[in-house]
Amino acid sequence: MSQSGSTFSPAELESLAWLLDGIDPLDVALRCEEDDATRGLVLWCSRGRPIALGHRIFVPKGRRGDVALLAHEMMHVRQYREWGPLVYYARGAWEQAKYLASRMGLAANPYDWTGTPRKRFTEYGMEQQAQLVEDHVRGDQTAAEIVRSGK
Ligand SMILES: [Zn+2]
Repeated sequence: MSQSGSTFSPAELESLAWLLDGIDPLDVALRCEEDDATRGLVLWCSRGRPIALGHRIFVPKGRRGDVALLAHEMMHVRQYREWGPLVYYARGAWEQAKYLASRMGLAANPYDWTGTPRKRFTEYGMEQQAQLVEDHVRGDQTAAEIVRSGK
């Protein structure tokens, strides 16, 4: 599969190798070019937050070197592969609706894994899993233990 966008650097690949689980990194496009109109539109819709759509990771300006962020989005690429597009986008839309509600104080933040009782990695929500992976890469030991409990 060939898509427009950048590829991972050797250092990024080394940091992300444990997460790939059969994903060929050449199949994943990093969309981080400033003149990429699709990227601009996607990031405008996401209000400037990084987002993974299928095998495309849209990276906001100045975040390209953030390997923990790339790990978070690579977890979403894995979810997309495991669940298929219908389940992935349905769950993603539901998580983002919960996130908006959380910002109004109406729901728990779907990214926050610290406020829920500890369980196996696969039992966490979609964004909790990605946040656990991100926090693991940033050095959080509890997140590392949970991620190791079942990728
Ligand atoms: Zn996410």
